Amino acid sequence: MIRQAVIMAAGLGSRLKERTAAMPKGFLEFDGVPIIEMSVRKLIAAGVEEIVIGTGHCSEAFDALSRRYGCITLVKNEEYASTGSMYTLSRCAERIRGDFLLLESDLIYDSIGLRVLINDPHRDAILASGATNSGDEVYLECDEGHFLRGNSKRREELGSVYGELVGISKLTKDTVRKMIEHMGRNMGSAPKMDYEAALSYVSSRCSPVFVRKVEFYTWCEIDDESHLERARKAVYPHVRENEEIRRVRREVLLNPGPATTTDSVKEAQVQTDICPREHEFGDVMEWVADELALMVGAPGRVKAVLFGGSGTAGDEVMISSCIPDGSKTLIVNNGAYGKRLAKIADIYGLEYDEFVSDGTLPLDAEAVKRRISSGGYTHLVIVYHETTTGLLNPVPEICRHCKANGVTTIVDAVSAFCAVPIDMDEDGIDFMSSTSNKNIQGMAGLAFVFCRTEALESIKPYPMRNYYLNLYDQHAYFERTHQTRFTPPVQTYYALRQAIIEAKVETIEGRYSRYTACWRILIEGLERMGLRYLVPVEAQSRLIVTVCNPESERYDFETMHDFMRDNGFTIYPGKLSDRPTFRIANIGDIQPEEMSRFIDLLKTYLDEING
Ligand code: PLP
Repeated sequence: MIRQAVIMAAGLGSRLKERTAAMPKGFLEFDGVPIIEMSVRKLIAAGVEEIVIGTGHCSEAFDALSRRYGCITLVKNEEYASTGSMYTLSRCAERIRGDFLLLESDLIYDSIGLRVLINDPHRDAILASGATNSGDEVYLECDEGHFLRGNSKRREELGSVYGELVGISKLTKDTVRKMIEHMGRNMGSAPKMDYEAALSYVSSRCSPVFVRKVEFYTWCEIDDESHLERARKAVYPHVRENEEIRRVRREVLLNPGPATTTDSVKEAQVQTDICPREHEFGDVMEWVADELALMVGAPGRVKAVLFGGSGTAGDEVMISSCIPDGSKTLIVNNGAYGKRLAKIADIYGLEYDEFVSDGTLPLDAEAVKRRISSGGYTHLVIVYHETTTGLLNPVPEICRHCKANGVTTIVDAVSAFCAVPIDMDEDGIDFMSSTSNKNIQGMAGLAFVFCRTEALESIKPYPMRNYYLNLYDQHAYFERTHQTRFTPPVQTYYALRQAIIEAKVETIEGRYSRYTACWRILIEGLERMGLRYLVPVEAQSRLIVTVCNPESERYDFETMHDFMRDNGFTIYPGKLSDRPTFRIANIGDIQPEEMSRFIDLLKTYLDEING
């Protein structure tokens, strides 16, 4: 699995004269986006977790980019004016942990090239194309097995030409080490050594590098005005078209999960088949669990334990594994999911009381706290965000009170996690469930239970009430073996890995702001149309709105649903038996512009039924 990339962006770009006198070449813009940023987005979509950019000329230009994309690390080549790309690569190599992608910064390229290299069975491979006639070609010479023998801008220096260097490669750490050694030996005579020269040397002497040629690959490098012209007129439009025709048909899910996903999350499921018992897959599972845990706690404070299953599996894991016999539990029930938690407790024969509250009104935190203090409870069970209505419960306030009173807290955060910022230590949460298909924006199929580390250890002695869903056993087995006890949903894991990469780039705060922007458009639109919602605005989660049915006699949810579906939006019926409602969720990969379009459609439908 390729987890890192290096982009070499130190060069002066002097052939572009005044255009790049005060800015690196990578900041040339197409459609308002710098080409280096396009490259960063393509790498992220291809599953790269960290991008190291080797800077030099106008290095400060990269600061804003690295702030916007937390996955970027900047490494400056202070000697950029007197050295070449190989020296920049050597500076970046200290950050490299395994196989990685190496790119030049001035490329416009079809993202399919990344996939071609990632899929190539050779660990060292460079991408080549057929003839581009760009006027600045780096020609490649290969042996009969298509391994690199040499490169030059002058055809006549090579015995034969197999293809042209694109400027995207996949390399092992070991090959780069050999390239650096070669550079070190020649620094005196060739201080401006290009990385491709070192690569050709290493490939022909000791570490053969495969040349993966795609004859009609769409790409260009921008070194001078004529390249820029060619990029704008021919290459960029072609790249855009290629990438657009590969997009998956867009369907905006306004149901409260499974949420709308990005194409890159969908595509991440298509991976080389792998036996999940392989160490490599264990690493994927470990990375996923560690990164999830870091989203809700400081390093080392929280463990995430994953199970194949839906959100309810996570809830059942907590109720069946974290409450020992002889405990006294208070379950807050102010909606269908609180009620479900009580039902699970019933099935396991646990002793509990319910704190029942109207799901359309803010939960009275003081009343819950009083009940906790006076009731002799050992455990509290509560839903963070009641998806039934869109009501956000004051979980931190209640759970902190519980912690101060020695009460273990168990929280269903299925539809709150990765939108509402949570710190389990600060918020007093011991155990918390969520799932891969809601705000984290992955595929359905994985439930996770977050555990404060001490809380997890405290349940170790509890007897097992079930087999598959036992929290401590699942945790201990993975710690011991780097494997799960039962077959994990492999492809769902890969999708979740990609979803985590994307969530980290957006940040949880950024995601909640986007969700909030969509929610604002939604409620303002509903108000303009005279529709009412159940939960007062100040208690709404900003993740879902339960809307009272329109009063028109011609209103019919199914007809409205079909009309929306025909126009690319999926909506969801209400879940309250006593009040006729429908629900609009705004979680997932949804942009404010799409919510505005939905509001326009809703108006069209309402105008139609209101005559
Ligand atoms: N808890 C809450 C708060 C939910 O919103 C949901 C589903 O929407 C669940 C539990 C159950 O999740 P699942 O349907 O994935 O089992």
